[in-house]
Amino acid sequence: MLIFRTKSDIQRHLNAFNSAENKIGFIPTMGALHQGHISLIDESVKRGLYTICSIFVNPTQFNDKRDLENYPRTLDSDIQLLEKSGCNAVFVPSVEEIYPSEDTRKFSFGNLDSLLEGKHRPGHFLGVAKVVSILFEIIKPDFAFFGSKDYQQVLVIKELTKQLNLPITIVPCSIIREKDGLAMSSRNTLLSETERKAASLIPELMKKVKEWKGRGLLISEIKQKIETELAKNPIYKLEYFEVCDKTTLFPLNELTPNIKPIALIACFVGKIRLIDNLEL
Ligand code: AMP
Repeated sequence: MLIFRTKSDIQRHLNAFNSAENKIGFIPTMGALHQGHISLIDESVKRGLYTICSIFVNPTQFNDKRDLENYPRTLDSDIQLLEKSGCNAVFVPSVEEIYPSEDTRKFSFGNLDSLLEGKHRPGHFLGVAKVVSILFEIIKPDFAFFGSKDYQQVLVIKELTKQLNLPITIVPCSIIREKDGLAMSSRNTLLSETERKAASLIPELMKKVKEWKGRGLLISEIKQKIETELAKNPIYKLEYFEVCDKTTLFPLNELTPNIKPIALIACFVGKIRLIDNLEL
């Protein structure tokens, strides 16, 4: 696997590359790689694409400075994992390489900016849009793979690609989970043993949502049950739980047959903020 640290090096490599014959599959990450990330690489490799992964902890998408400082950085083991996957090349740029000067561009994603993650992490999607558009410009992939664990992010990236008129197919991939159902996340490594055990309640509750929906409970009743369950232990701090329209992410007050619902949650376990979602 090739390792590139500068824009000019990876661009030189890609310029010599026959893009008519070889299509590029791209997987942007912030590192601390786990099987969730590797599943995206697998999906690209399975499609016969020349597979490029990037590892870059993007400062502009962190609305909490401490979260950025504490974000796990495990480059050596990341590279070992990538070597074992079928990844062809990895791009590991510095902050100066991506942002040689301040990126003052503005993007607007309509309601996606102000709902759920957009509401609770102001500026987060602007930072995501900045870095992803810069990486897309450098790599010029044909396909880019994103995890549905960050469901709202997938919608933002699709909208970004549309707004910038980029010829890139965005491929959403399923959530990879631990044995107890917890969605894999780089942040899981920051949980204490007690917090890690407590975290499994989140996917358990999401499963129950499906069951409650099946039993005909109203959305307001489902929300109440979630709040009650989490309030039983002060280790949890619920940020939001919503049942939304899968395509617009508009929160729903009632379930109707013509709207596909998705449940989304963000909850602190101790100091670690975890997110999850489940299509209902
Ligand atoms: P991150 O390194 O957290 O920015 O994630 C990089 C990519 O991996 C994003 O598209 C994530 O949605 C995806 N990803 C993270 N965790 C998972 C998971 N458990 N299952 C599937 N994809 C994931």
